[in-house]
Amino acid sequence: MRALRYWFDSHLQQQDSYADRAGIDWLRIIPFIGLHLGCFAVFWVGTSTVAVAIAVGLYLLRMFAITAFYHRYFAHKSFKTSRWLQFLFALIGASATQRGPLWWAAHHRQHHRHADKDKDPHSPKQGFIWSHMGWFLSRKHFKADLSLVPELARFPELRWLDRYDIAVPVLLAVSLYAIGESLAVWQPTLNTSGWQLVIWGYFISTVLLIHATLLINSLAHRLGRRRYQTQDDSRNNFWLALLTLGEGWHNNHHYHAASARQGFYWWEIDISYYLLLCMKSVGLIWDVRTIAKEKRDAPQICREAGQ
Ligand SMILES: [Zn+2]
Ligand SMILES: [Zn+2]
Repeated sequence: MRALRYWFDSHLQQQDSYADRAGIDWLRIIPFIGLHLGCFAVFWVGTSTVAVAIAVGLYLLRMFAITAFYHRYFAHKSFKTSRWLQFLFALIGASATQRGPLWWAAHHRQHHRHADKDKDPHSPKQGFIWSHMGWFLSRKHFKADLSLVPELARFPELRWLDRYDIAVPVLLAVSLYAIGESLAVWQPTLNTSGWQLVIWGYFISTVLLIHATLLINSLAHRLGRRRYQTQDDSRNNFWLALLTLGEGWHNNHHYHAASARQGFYWWEIDISYYLLLCMKSVGLIWDVRTIAKEKRDAPQICREAGQ
C-alpha cells in the first residue's frame, strides 16, 4: 500500500505543471482497490458455466448502458427517449460502478470542451495513468459540476442515482448472491453458489468493464489512426471499438460528437449503434442523430483533390 501511494504521489508530482490538482483521495481509492482484490476470491469460489455466462452478459449489458446511454444519450443528447427508458438505462449504467449519470456526463462534457488542453479532466498529456484512473480518484473530480448538465439535473430520479451512487452496485451484488444461493438449492447440477456469482458477475465483470471504458480516455487518445485533424489527439482504434461496443472510433467521435453513430463507415463495427437502431425500429428511441455524408467524407475528398 505504501509503495502504491508513493508511486501515485511521485507520478502526480511530476505532472504538477499541467494543472492545479488536489491529489489522490485515499479514502475513496480503498473501495477501488478492494474491487480489484475481490477478483482474487475466484480461487476460493471456483468457476461454473453459468457464472461465466452471467459475467459476460452483465459486461455486455452494462457496456451498452454506458456507451449508448451514459455517453451518447446523457452526455451528447444524440437521440431522444422516454423518461422511463432514460431512468432504466441510468439505473443499469449506475450498476457499472462508474458513478451516477450526472457526474459521468458533466465530466465528459468538460472533456470535449477542453480535449487534451489544461482543463481536460483526463488527457494523457497529463500522464497516462492520470488519464486512465488518477483523475477520478482525485479530490478535484469527486463532485460533478451540475451547471454542465442543467437539463439532466432537473430530474430528481437522476439526482438520486448520483447522490447514492453506491446503492445500485450493492443491490446488484446482493441480487447475484440471492440468485446463486437459490440455484445452489434448486439446480445443484449447475455447480454454482451465491459468492461465486458475486465474484464473477459483479467483481470480475465490473473490473473488466471499468478498465475497458477507461481505455477510451487513455489509449484512444494515444493509439490508433487519425482520419480527422481534430484539435485533440483522439484516435480510431478497431480493437478498442470491439471491446467497448463501438467507442473505439474516438477520432470520428471528437470530429462529430453529436452523432449516435460512431463507426462512420460500414466496416467500422459499432455494436451500440446497431442496437440503438433496433430500439429505434420498435419506437423506444427516436430523433437519432448521425453525420451528414458530406461532412463525413470531407477529408477523403480533400485528399483525392490533392489538397
Ligand atoms: Zn476523448
Ligand atoms: Zn463523447
